[in-house]
Amino acid sequence: MKAVTRVTVAVAALALIGASEARAALKVVATTQDLASIARDIGGDKVQIDALAQGYQDPHFVEPKPSFILKLHGANLLVVVGRELEIGWLPALITQARNAKIQPGADGYLDASLTAKILEIPTGQITRAMGDVHPSGNPHYWLSPSNGRRIAQAVQEKLSQLDPANAAYFAQRFADFDRRLTEGEKRWKAAMAPYKGTKIVTYHRSWPNFADEFGLDVVGYVEPKPGIPPTPSHTLDLINEMKRRNIKIILVEPYFDLKTPNAIARETSARVLVMPPSVGGVPEIKDYPQLFDYDVKLLTSAIREAGTR
Ligand SMILES: [Zn+2]
Repeated sequence: MKAVTRVTVAVAALALIGASEARAALKVVATTQDLASIARDIGGDKVQIDALAQGYQDPHFVEPKPSFILKLHGANLLVVVGRELEIGWLPALITQARNAKIQPGADGYLDASLTAKILEIPTGQITRAMGDVHPSGNPHYWLSPSNGRRIAQAVQEKLSQLDPANAAYFAQRFADFDRRLTEGEKRWKAAMAPYKGTKIVTYHRSWPNFADEFGLDVVGYVEPKPGIPPTPSHTLDLINEMKRRNIKIILVEPYFDLKTPNAIARETSARVLVMPPSVGGVPEIKDYPQLFDYDVKLLTSAIREAGTR
């Protein structure tokens, strides 16, 4: 009787393990909430998704946490922004995670930049004088819906490779995402159309893909070089340039100090607009299409109020 009970318990335990494996399916870790949102849209209930950096953090400088190593240790797939965005914090975590599946070059490592349209790729010899943080082209490429679509497609292909039994499911989810994004693009482009050519200044070089997609003209940066804090002489040059060209909008990512942008705004009567570049940058932005809904609405109303273009 005792033996039968033991066998029954063992069989029940195996069934439970089987059921939980079927439920958990692929464990995906994305370095940012933008990539996590897209992966969630494609993976649906066949994947379990975790993001490392939060959308309100500067993705170049993320404080590593022990919980990141645990997540990476159990992951089947790691999706990274690439272009050296995470170079300051991710490589050590990947080493410490001791998970062969997600090492660079392994099947469970997806660099989302490989199929994206990348701007500002340096030509010729690369030196530190070009700035610290964008040596391989601009890594903020997710800020255009057409790149969001390319990322989603790369995720769909990778998930189908890792879990071929669910390939049709992932393809269907991609088609749904694509449709939702295409509807969004029409809406966002229509909203931005009256402001085509508006000249703006941004704090960091986060917005070239966004500007390209929606017809903005970024004429200067609060940072003298990407990753280099403002200097008095650069700030003075920028103020003069903004006065000369009548620039009234300064876009600032939520994780930068507002002291210099506010000082520039006082001198130029421009407006400082804190605009999130990522999902999770503010609580209202819960997924990737909502990022554009939020930013386009914020920006168009600021341009309207500034009364300039
Ligand atoms: Zn950057």
